[in-house]
Amino acid sequence: MSDFEADKIKKVNEALNTCTMCGFCKSVCPSFKSVGWDAGSSRGRIILTYGLLTGGLDADDSVIENIYTCTTCADCVRRCPSTVDIVEVIELCRSDLVKSGHILPKHKAVADSVDKYGNPYGEKETVVKTLGTAPHKAKIGYFAGCTAAYREKKIAAASLSILKKLGADFTTVDEVCCGSVLQRIGIDEEKSIALMKKNVEAIKALGVETLVLSCSGCYRMFKIEYPKFVDVPFTVLHMSEFLAKQDLKLKPLGEVNVTYHDPCHLGRHCKVYEPPREVLKKVPGIAFKEMKFNKSASHCCGGGGGVRSAYPEEAMDIAGTRLEEAGAANVIVTACPFCVANLTAAAGDRKVKIVDLTELVDANL
Ligand code: SF4
Ligand code: SF4
Repeated sequence: MSDFEADKIKKVNEALNTCTMCGFCKSVCPSFKSVGWDAGSSRGRIILTYGLLTGGLDADDSVIENIYTCTTCADCVRRCPSTVDIVEVIELCRSDLVKSGHILPKHKAVADSVDKYGNPYGEKETVVKTLGTAPHKAKIGYFAGCTAAYREKKIAAASLSILKKLGADFTTVDEVCCGSVLQRIGIDEEKSIALMKKNVEAIKALGVETLVLSCSGCYRMFKIEYPKFVDVPFTVLHMSEFLAKQDLKLKPLGEVNVTYHDPCHLGRHCKVYEPPREVLKKVPGIAFKEMKFNKSASHCCGGGGGVRSAYPEEAMDIAGTRLEEAGAANVIVTACPFCVANLTAAAGDRKVKIVDLTELVDANL
């Protein structure tokens, strides 16, 4: 008896057969550049999924590893002339792998932690307790996300500080994990839908009209994934979009060269490219230079898709490449706590600072 049951991947049978094996996707795949095997490339994952679907392949350790070394950056989707949604293929394949009992130990720990504590980091305190500000009725809700709340606390602190400085009518929200990590690693959909309902109910109860989020992954969830399953009766803005609409009076930065790293989930997945750049333009005399690979062609930080937890060496390798691409910049600004965490971990003793847009704004507002 097979150790894999094809279920959700039946939906992408046509996409799998549409692939012409041209390899355009492979030319940009960061995991391929790190792993070095065709099986660890976007095209390779199409072949593996087809093999699992038709029963030609068993779900052995090597197949599982190659399906899980994808960061879900979606650069392959941009490049595919046949418009194959490779990320959808991979995520559905992961879903079937998990359902068939093939879950990576690191990902099981993450999923168990979300079940038990409402966050992937095994933190026992709630987000609002960590932030130190109790929720109350207000027009603007601030959703920190687990990474800004528990691992990159300076980003949540900067966001709250900016909202205070701007005199906004805002509140924290009684949030739990947005469900992104569960979706990315293939955990049963019912679990992420339960989190969606919990978050939306908590936000609605506060009379929030606009939700502002620090994390690109959480933002993608509220903007694109939540509406597929639950009613989202408020406006959803990434912090960069919120800041771009404000009349910010910022101080100059001094003698630093600045560049911007587009987070995959904010950029390619949600097409938010200009707002962070508009905010940076508000800094008087800023010495800003785009990276060679920017906006829709931006390269991944290496941390997404469950790669940072399960394959940290690959995550560091991809982040190292991205840091090299920053060239002469002393400051890399990004707009996602997860990118900040992964790029900073890989920076070592390089003379470059990685900051979230909110940190830069708060320090100069
Ligand atoms: S989403 Fe990114 S890492 Fe995954 S297969 Fe596509 S290009 Fe490679
Ligand atoms: S770019 Fe598209 S058609 Fe070409 S190999 Fe990749 S998935 Fe297949």
